Amino acid sequence: MAFIRKSAKPQVGKIGSPALEARGEDKLTVAQMLELARREGIDTSPLDVHALVSALGIKFLCVPMDDEVSGSLSLSENGRNWLIRVNALHHPNRQRFTVAHELAHFARHRSQQLKFVDQNFFRNGDSNAMEAEANRFAGELLMPESLFRDRVKLFSGSIEAVAQYFKVSTLAVRVRAKSLGMKGHGLE
Ligand SMILES: [Zn+2]
Repeated sequence: MAFIRKSAKPQVGKIGSPALEARGEDKLTVAQMLELARREGIDTSPLDVHALVSALGIKFLCVPMDDEVSGSLSLSENGRNWLIRVNALHHPNRQRFTVAHELAHFARHRSQQLKFVDQNFFRNGDSNAMEAEANRFAGELLMPESLFRDRVKLFSGSIEAVAQYFKVSTLAVRVRAKSLGMKGHGLE
């Protein structure tokens, strides 16, 4: 297909292409990622992170890693394929956050680094701006604001119920609530 649109909308199969990056369109927002997921018929409530990884052309591996490592994003040696690895020994909900965090590095930072190796996000994840942005992005991707507020109301502020709905840890729910300035509902 020779037809190239100037739109900044991500095109499946073209994301990560040199052409896109040369035009400075290599950075995706959370809204663009969710829009892309919807266009591809991927569940977004809660988000099917694995289907999104696949739609973006990213390879995925779930393998046992050292306990302190959550996962990584890296470019293959031939420079063609991005790969997300997650620690198979971690709880599936934690793995989901890891995948979302690595997707954030892919969406925002892949032109700056070829490899990202992540340890515990909430303990030391905010130690630099890039990690802080990836955590915020992941929280937003997995728990979009309007849906999050809606579920908190629906579940009367039960952190456990909200976490169960979004398939994330209760800690991730607390951090997301705090970032939205939500008080009450037992979320403080
Ligand atoms: Zn990271």
